[in-house]
Amino acid sequence: MKFSDLNLHRTILQAISDEGYESPTPIQQQAIPAILDEKDLVGTAQTGTGKTAAFAIPMINMLHPIVGSAKKRKSIRALVITPTRELALQVGESFDNYGKYTNIRQLTVFGGVNQAPQVDQLKKGVDILIATPGRLLDLHKQGFINLDHLHFLVLDEADLMLDMGFINDVKKIIKLTPDNRQTLLFSATMPLPIRELADTFLTDPKYVSVAPISSTAELVKQQLYLVDKADKRKLLYHLIRNENLKNVLVFTRTKHGADNVVKALKKNGIEAGAIHGDKSQSARQRMLEGFKNKEISVLVATDIAARGIDIESLPFVINFDLPNIPETYVHRIGRTGRAGNSGLAISFCGRDELPYLKDIEKLIRLKIKVIDEHPYPYGNQEGESKNEEGQKPDLRNKKNNARSGKSKPGSNNSKSRKSEASKKKKRRWY
Ligand code: AMP
Repeated sequence: MKFSDLNLHRTILQAISDEGYESPTPIQQQAIPAILDEKDLVGTAQTGTGKTAAFAIPMINMLHPIVGSAKKRKSIRALVITPTRELALQVGESFDNYGKYTNIRQLTVFGGVNQAPQVDQLKKGVDILIATPGRLLDLHKQGFINLDHLHFLVLDEADLMLDMGFINDVKKIIKLTPDNRQTLLFSATMPLPIRELADTFLTDPKYVSVAPISSTAELVKQQLYLVDKADKRKLLYHLIRNENLKNVLVFTRTKHGADNVVKALKKNGIEAGAIHGDKSQSARQRMLEGFKNKEISVLVATDIAARGIDIESLPFVINFDLPNIPETYVHRIGRTGRAGNSGLAISFCGRDELPYLKDIEKLIRLKIKVIDEHPYPYGNQEGESKNEEGQKPDLRNKKNNARSGKSKPGSNNSKSRKSEASKKKKRRWY
């Protein structure tokens, strides 16, 4: 299937092509036609499956003719609720990308920052609002948000919202929206309270599901090296040399970090190059070409720079630094093990990164296999005392924090379910 088979506006197809996407992912193939058909939808899919585009593209396609000219009065026609500010920003970026040739104006709001700029933007008028639950309710309470003209309500990462204790806020928000809205709910897992939410607030939804992370993980072998920050470069060199790794994509958190890794590898005779925001477009392009032609065997990138790399099916991805946003880990390792090829994702975790590891393992619901047999375990440096002799350092999370899907059971809501269902009216465009 191609995007052009999906009945999308030319401008949106152009934006998709600018992103370099060749064909819709499985969740997109299933969800886009259903959403265009004005159906409510429950999508079981985690990040990394293309789920954001699966809802953003058809939403933009439907809103595009309604929003019309840039001068037309704006009212919030779509609301996307996400659990974290990082996810909100990522979703906002997707709407920006796919809607760049339209007049749709979108705004992302989240807590922990001054609300004044958000209020200014709201006053100017937006078509699509992406928000975390608390800030949305706050702004609504203060009268800055009017949801009367809402067509789309998207609940993204619903199970994470449940885990983070936002479920009651989400229910409150749903009740602020018109009954004839089109509701789209996405969740990596379907614990009971989320199924109840879907049963209560969605009308005859279409259910679509794509392979959960565990099946991705079957193709991507994930390994973890517990290594002090100061030893990471030595370990990287050791692995590349000893395991004879070629065609390796290495991720660092910072541009400076990327340059340092390249310098260290080059000093040891390994052909490496960095791509990051401080490099000119032409330098990045050259590096990329060199990597594709296998003249450069190690490409070191920051997350932002890597986003534009259209290389799939890499044999090796190394997380030199663990990302502080767990979803980024999934994106990174998704660079390998694609299209049925197996891949290896190696992660280095310094002591300071153990909290990030905890978050990642919580998101992927998996304990990453620790490789103990390497020359640079924690405390390897001079002056540092080793742990109890012969014992592996158990510095990783004390508790297994894997998401259980369990939560406080929400109050049984059959009354509100009934009234919501009976309140549903025929959908109409505003
Ligand atoms: P998501 O599951 O929404 O977090 O998306 C994961 C990544 O897949 C994002 O970096 C998207 O830019 C990318 N992506 C989304 N749709 C496609 C597609 N059809 N082809 C290739 N990449 C895609």
